[in-house]
Amino acid sequence: MSLALRLTQWMRDCVRVPDASADLTQEIRNRQFHAALQLIPFTSSINVVVAIVAAWLFRHLAPLATTLMWLIPFIAIQLDTFWSFRLSKTPRRNVGLGDVRRFVSQCSLGASLLGLAVMWLFPQIDADNRLLIGALATGLIGTGAFVLAPVPAAGLLWTACVGVGSCIALMRVDGPVYLMLLVLLVIYICLMATTVLMNSRLFIQRIRAETQAEQQSQVVSLLLNDFEGSARDWLWQTDAAGRLRHVSIRLAEALDCEAATLADKSLLQLLRDTFPSLSHDEERALEALQSRLAGTRAFRDQVVPVMAGGELRWWALTAKPLLDSQGRASGWRGVGSDITEIQLREIEMVRLANFDSLTGLANRRQFQACLNSALPLNAPHHPLLLLVLDLDNFKAVNDSLGHLVGDEMLCEVARRLNQLVREGEVLARLGGDEYALIVPGELSDAQCVSRAQSLLDAMREPCYIKEVRIELRGSVGMACAPRHGNDANLLLKAADAALYASKDAGRDTVRLFDAEMDARARHRMSVLNDLGQALERAEFELYYQPEIHARTQAIVGFEALLRWRHSQRGMIMPDEFIPIAEETGMIVPIGAWVMRQACVEAANWPPHMFVAVNLSAVQFASRSLIDMVHGALAGAQLPPMRLELEITESCLIDDSSGARDTLKALRALGVRVALDDFGTGYSSLAYLRSFPLDKLKIDREFTNALDSDEHGEANAIVRAIIQLAASLKLKSTAEGVETAGQMDALRSKGCNELQGYYFAKPMPATDIPAFLQAWQAAPGPPPGHRTTAV
Ligand code: C2E
Ligand code: CA
Ligand code: CA
Repeated sequence: MSLALRLTQWMRDCVRVPDASADLTQEIRNRQFHAALQLIPFTSSINVVVAIVAAWLFRHLAPLATTLMWLIPFIAIQLDTFWSFRLSKTPRRNVGLGDVRRFVSQCSLGASLLGLAVMWLFPQIDADNRLLIGALATGLIGTGAFVLAPVPAAGLLWTACVGVGSCIALMRVDGPVYLMLLVLLVIYICLMATTVLMNSRLFIQRIRAETQAEQQSQVVSLLLNDFEGSARDWLWQTDAAGRLRHVSIRLAEALDCEAATLADKSLLQLLRDTFPSLSHDEERALEALQSRLAGTRAFRDQVVPVMAGGELRWWALTAKPLLDSQGRASGWRGVGSDITEIQLREIEMVRLANFDSLTGLANRRQFQACLNSALPLNAPHHPLLLLVLDLDNFKAVNDSLGHLVGDEMLCEVARRLNQLVREGEVLARLGGDEYALIVPGELSDAQCVSRAQSLLDAMREPCYIKEVRIELRGSVGMACAPRHGNDANLLLKAADAALYASKDAGRDTVRLFDAEMDARARHRMSVLNDLGQALERAEFELYYQPEIHARTQAIVGFEALLRWRHSQRGMIMPDEFIPIAEETGMIVPIGAWVMRQACVEAANWPPHMFVAVNLSAVQFASRSLIDMVHGALAGAQLPPMRLELEITESCLIDDSSGARDTLKALRALGVRVALDDFGTGYSSLAYLRSFPLDKLKIDREFTNALDSDEHGEANAIVRAIIQLAASLKLKSTAEGVETAGQMDALRSKGCNELQGYYFAKPMPATDIPAFLQAWQAAPGPPPGHRTTAV
């Protein structure tokens, strides 16, 4: 019992399709049916032939009518099977259970007629014919089991029907041989049934595996379609010769052409052909791809240029080599993506890192790299000329006309210089208004100077920015390698030293480095070094220059002017060290000392006299300014109204709203603010109106010009400034009065206060009491000046 149960269970397992979806079940049914029908035309034909031959052979055993009653249905069934289930070219996709049932019943009907015939014929015929029929029956069982195995029900029923008929036939005849044959036949039938079941099971498993693989490949191709459809990336594949295979629409789109035109084209050639001509970088990128494709190793993000739709684009290609069954390279398969945006950003970053964003020239970093490579280490003979050009009036233009005009000016200079650059030379903007040019090759001194002059000549052409005529003037410093240094730093320092010398020599000039400049440059360096300790060593002193009321000649106050008494170099004037102190930020602590010292000393003067303290732009912008001023006043107990701060236009230009707040805060403290060096800028009027000021100090250039003023221009300007100040309720002070003529001219124009060597040179604080006393006794400038100080 349990054996029978196990057997049915096993049989069920053999034909069952566990966990199969409806689709899979249908697919299996389609494939089973299709496989079973493969041989039906042959088997049906053979069956018909065999039946007719058998009917003819054994025609004497039965009346014709009986034979025909067997033969006709049998042939009809075979023909119907042949016709109904004739093989279509493509497998049917919709084989229903009814089809299967009909097929199975036709097979079993046919098999039953065969079994019946064997059963009826066998006992009536002689031994030879029994052998024939026996062989036929065994053959029919075998072929049926083999051919119908894909549809197990058909296979089993066929085997059973023919088998049962044959067994009954054997049982109907006596003799031990037939008994033996019966046993063998039963074993054979069982074997065939098992074969049917096992084949069917294998068949189902194979279909299942195939269907799954097909589904997977459909999913993959769906995913790939999706990938191609949605992303900016695409797939590409080449054969061993590098020709494109399976060109996708996305790839064709990326190349801006039809997919059909791309098939079988060499990928590399295709990329090359997109360019009318290749730049050096593009050529290198394509060569890199070529060597990748010539190799056998997978690569990632190989960047290549491509010209698509008249536009330069960049692709990143990633690929793996394809190997054939023998492990030989048979092409490449990979993904490509358009990375133009990323690439452009990267190029832009490199450009920003190496080029000046304003003028597009090489920046300092790039320039250093070029200079370094032009002066290779351990290769002393690489002659070159280095020119450094600095604009003479940039600060004034920038301060007075604003940054936009200043920027335009820098661009114009870059354009003009660029036109003079020859093959192999490098032009750079080192920062601010400083440019540099590397000229490779050996040049004589005269050639160097003429080259530099040509740069300055280009500057002198008239220049209009926003309809304002701007004077472009520059100074050039030059140094030659290897004469003046054989490494980039030394050479640059030498050229800088020559530039300083050129500026000292009155600007708009050129200078080639020499030993004396070297000494001066060293001096500058040592000033810079010593400046750091000057405060600690108490080497600073304040000198004071009086300011005189123009009409009454009374002393109204003193301007504090800084001096540095250097232990070795003696007295150093502010023009020499203040720019360095400003550059290094040391002006902030030094300025704070000046402020405290000036307030302390002014507290000893008659109470109606003020002290004027100069502020540099760096100090003015420092957050601690207000506290610093407040602290100095409080420390010296000096009334704020006795302190005057002198600022320049550069304090106001850099950050005008911050500057306005600072000015307001200073005036809230009660101190006055004077605008120093007035007239040297361009748009001074704008500041006068928008910033709260108390005084204008007319620059000493104007005062100077009053004497030798043939056309009366200087007089007109000074008059205008004084009237302007008066109308804005500002006081006016003229600086640098050196002669009686200047004094008279200024007085006659209504200038309020005067200051200059004509009255007194700056003096140490200790001289002030005596000076005041003498002035009290005899106000006004003495013929031989009143003080001997610097
Ligand atoms: P400044 O503020 O224009 O000072 C006036 C300069 O003109 C002083 O030069 C003074 O000695 C000079 N001077 C006065 N009268 C005459 C004259 O009749 N003829 C000529 N040729 N020159 C005259 P000094 O003391 O060498 O100062 C130069 C500059 O250094 C000052 O120009 C000022 O900008 C700066 N400075 C001086 N002391 C300080 C300071 O404590 N802080 C800051 N930030 N700058 C200072
Ligand atoms: Ca001043
Ligand atoms: Ca001044």
